[in-house]
Amino acid sequence: MVIVVDDASNPDVEIKTGKIAGFDLGLKTFLTCSDGTKIESPQFFKQSLNAIKKASRQHSKKLKGSANRERARKNLVRKYEDISNARRDWFWKLAHDLTNRFDVLCFETLNLKGMQRLWGRKISDLAFGEFLQILEWIAKKKGKQIVFIDQWYPSSKTCSNCGHVLEKLDLSVRKWRCPSCQSVNGRDENAAKNICAVGASTVGLDDLRRTLSAIVV
Ligand SMILES: [Zn+2]
Repeated sequence: MVIVVDDASNPDVEIKTGKIAGFDLGLKTFLTCSDGTKIESPQFFKQSLNAIKKASRQHSKKLKGSANRERARKNLVRKYEDISNARRDWFWKLAHDLTNRFDVLCFETLNLKGMQRLWGRKISDLAFGEFLQILEWIAKKKGKQIVFIDQWYPSSKTCSNCGHVLEKLDLSVRKWRCPSCQSVNGRDENAAKNICAVGASTVGLDDLRRTLSAIVV
């Protein structure tokens, strides 16, 4: 059920869904949702990066102090602006879509330094931090809740079906069978489900009741 609150003093539309979800952030798949849906990273990020590389090469080849170099510099700046605008645009749309679909959205606290070590330079291209900032801002406007769970919680190694915790899980393993309950867990979806469960347990009962009462008319 969807309730649209249309208040002239508050132009923002509030949609109550009564739904909570957990999200796993990744490189190729930008977001994996606990309900199984996946949001792939847009291809244009990669294309724009190639355009920047090319512009950067052209800039460095031009003679210092020349008009050509200045022209190449402006071109490079423009390419940077293009990619950050396109990315921000995509983040806004995604944040609106997610906050329309869910009332409570759970994420792991970002450990950007650790991610950078693990994944290299790409992490800054994806700018998870920027996305979460936009999402938090939109959620606040719409009366939705963003929950961050402890980054040290073993969301990938825990079976979302029975709670069994693996001793280790290699980064390359995309799917694993739980030795305890035999269920097969897709790495990202399993993590998202655990993040959702932990997030739900940290949301106070009052919050849940408020969410639920909002959808019962
Ligand atoms: Zn299990």
